[in-house]
Amino acid sequence: MNPWLQQALGLDDSQLVADGDRPASIACAVHAGIVGPLLALQAEAANAGFDLRVVSGWRGFVRQSQIWDAKLKGDRAVLDDAGCAVDMASCSPLQQVCAVLRWSALPGASRHHWGTDIDVVDAAAMPAGYAVQLTEAESRGMFAAFHAWLDERMANDQAFGFYRPYDRDRGGVGPEPWHLSYRPLAQQYASVLTESALRELWQGHALQGRDVVLANLPMIYQRFVCAVA
Ligand SMILES: [Zn+2]
Repeated sequence: MNPWLQQALGLDDSQLVADGDRPASIACAVHAGIVGPLLALQAEAANAGFDLRVVSGWRGFVRQSQIWDAKLKGDRAVLDDAGCAVDMASCSPLQQVCAVLRWSALPGASRHHWGTDIDVVDAAAMPAGYAVQLTEAESRGMFAAFHAWLDERMANDQAFGFYRPYDRDRGGVGPEPWHLSYRPLAQQYASVLTESALRELWQGHALQGRDVVLANLPMIYQRFVCAVA
């Protein structure tokens, strides 16, 4: 299989910067190709008084599958837009799958599989010992100035290739201002991640909700994979 596709599906991590080569300011595993641009963005953020920290980077298919299965089995809460737990028992199987997809990617279709996408915070704005939640309330609250600064950099094409794929609600994945993507590499992964590649992957793994996902894959692919900035 094409290595780009293997990496796009979260099955190959050879694109990642080796742990020993990763700068101390980047706490998570990321694609080797984003290290330079990310260091540049961190330096500009520091000049503006922000401490841009990566709280989530690469995550493979196996890890995403564990998260997915735990949510559909009820071992892990599924939250609605207001941050309240969804009553999964009262949902149809398809509604359950869509509720999970609002805030968690389909295994094989997470942009975190690529290493080009990261979740970021401004550590300078956090009280000591604060546990990051990555919620809209947090983004509008303690990280508001940081996101406004990022908005301005992105609008002026001064973000070194980073942008927000989940900048607003398109009816699929919820808005995630904290999720940044390095466009020059991410667009290459996006271009190989086809519906048929996902179908083949899902046919080969006994994941929770597999029959529902496969029966609705054209909709899921359009609404939760393709509908990004
Ligand atoms: Zn993310």
